Amino acid sequence: MDPFEEKRRRMVERLREELRISEKVAKAMMKVPRHLFVPKNYEREAYIDTPLPIGFGQTISAPHMVAIMCDLLDLKEGEKVLEVGGGSGYHAAVVAEMVGKEGRVVAIERIVELAEKAKEVLNLLGYENVKVVVGDGSRGYEEESPYDKIYVTASAPDIPKPLMEQLKPGGRIVIPIGLHDQYLYVVDKDEKGKIQKRIWGPVRFVLLVGEFGFRE
Ligand code: SAM
Repeated sequence: MDPFEEKRRRMVERLREELRISEKVAKAMMKVPRHLFVPKNYEREAYIDTPLPIGFGQTISAPHMVAIMCDLLDLKEGEKVLEVGGGSGYHAAVVAEMVGKEGRVVAIERIVELAEKAKEVLNLLGYENVKVVVGDGSRGYEEESPYDKIYVTASAPDIPKPLMEQLKPGGRIVIPIGLHDQYLYVVDKDEKGKIQKRIWGPVRFVLLVGEFGFRE
């Protein structure tokens, strides 16, 4: 019995009522024990809709942001997804629930210790369809490309060119862009490779640090 199940249910119900997140996302979030992805001393706050520190100056995104990004990605069973900024591994687990066992999530994280911890929790929970790798995700992860969908959980100066190249035709990228004023963009690549961008709205993320990100 998961002692946090009731708290999780209430959080997901609130997100359903206030943000009208899809049932698909709600179901996935109901399955993922967020309290296992945060440091022990934040466990009790895991089902409050807020970002929380995960060490190394980084945060696990607020549940509403995870839900919104998952809905914007329009995830389908069997898709291959790249996450840039794996952090705690929580968002990757929610996406893994949505793409199912036939799908695959590759989460790239630049901080070794965070990637190791994320791997540990994801393994413990049996997420065989998630692979965590260490590296500069602003360059994407060519080894497993192309991807049906890509999402970035740190704000970039612009859409990193390698991510655009590693996206399948018909694919979508969801990415925050900006330094102080940040906006979440939804970027579509059509079958002919033509790019269309739209802004979802203002957001607040830590910065994407790397070759196609901001300098350290
Ligand atoms: N999705 C994460 C989760 O569920 O916990 C939250 C991630 S946090 C908001 C953003 C993460 O992006 C941080 O862990 C940070 O280290 C990482 N990051 C920043 N620049 C990066 C880069 N170039 N490549 C990979 N990860 C990067």
